[in-house]
Amino acid sequence: MHAFFIASFFILGTVMGSFYNVCILRIPLGQDIFISRSRCPKCHTTLQPRDLVPVFSYLLLKGRCRYCSASITRRYPMIELLTGALFAATYLLSGLNPVLVPNLILISLLIIITFIDLDHMIIPHSLTITGMLTALAWQLTSNHLTWPSLLLGLALGFGLPALLVALGGMGGGDAMLGGMFGLFFGLKYTFVLLMLSFILGGVYSLYVLLTKQKSRKDKLPFGPFLALAGLIMLFFGQQLLLWYGL
Ligand SMILES: [Zn+2]
Repeated sequence: MHAFFIASFFILGTVMGSFYNVCILRIPLGQDIFISRSRCPKCHTTLQPRDLVPVFSYLLLKGRCRYCSASITRRYPMIELLTGALFAATYLLSGLNPVLVPNLILISLLIIITFIDLDHMIIPHSLTITGMLTALAWQLTSNHLTWPSLLLGLALGFGLPALLVALGGMGGGDAMLGGMFGLFFGLKYTFVLLMLSFILGGVYSLYVLLTKQKSRKDKLPFGPFLALAGLIMLFFGQQLLLWYGL
């Protein structure tokens, strides 16, 4: 039964990942994500259901549009597989318990936010506010954190990046994402999460500077580092807290 659920969550994840590809493409452009079906960006043919089966359509079409043979970015099946893997991992982490729901929503938001920030250097407030409301709803139904921890987490998660916005290192979307984490994780986790994101971002910046892939003037989106730190905290937070002695 366990293997059945793992496989089911993986498949559900690939289907949702296919939808998240649409979100990543359309939300920053202010387009509707539900009504119209996807089109080929090259020939604008409306895609048929058989063109939209996660991962398989890409493999069967050998990465090309059925109608005009334009190549399809490899990122689509990659995001579908990534979402599948993370959904299965989240099931393994949470089991079939109520906490599975907010955890899957958190994972989903982090995937969408990461790729929108990579593409456009923005984190839409609609996504972080959705995350904040999810975290609050979960808190109200489960009381899994104390309210002081939650509110201090919000203050720290929002406040520290906001301070760096003032210094020019981050954007307002990063502060909103930090605040969202505060409401999901509470004070201690948020503190470690922020430190972790600074370390990840710092190491990566140093790497691209030293290998001359970017210059000092280039801006890097910070959202992906926050999102990665959030993922690490979701799966390994307890161990890391012990490590920090918190
Ligand atoms: Zn086409």
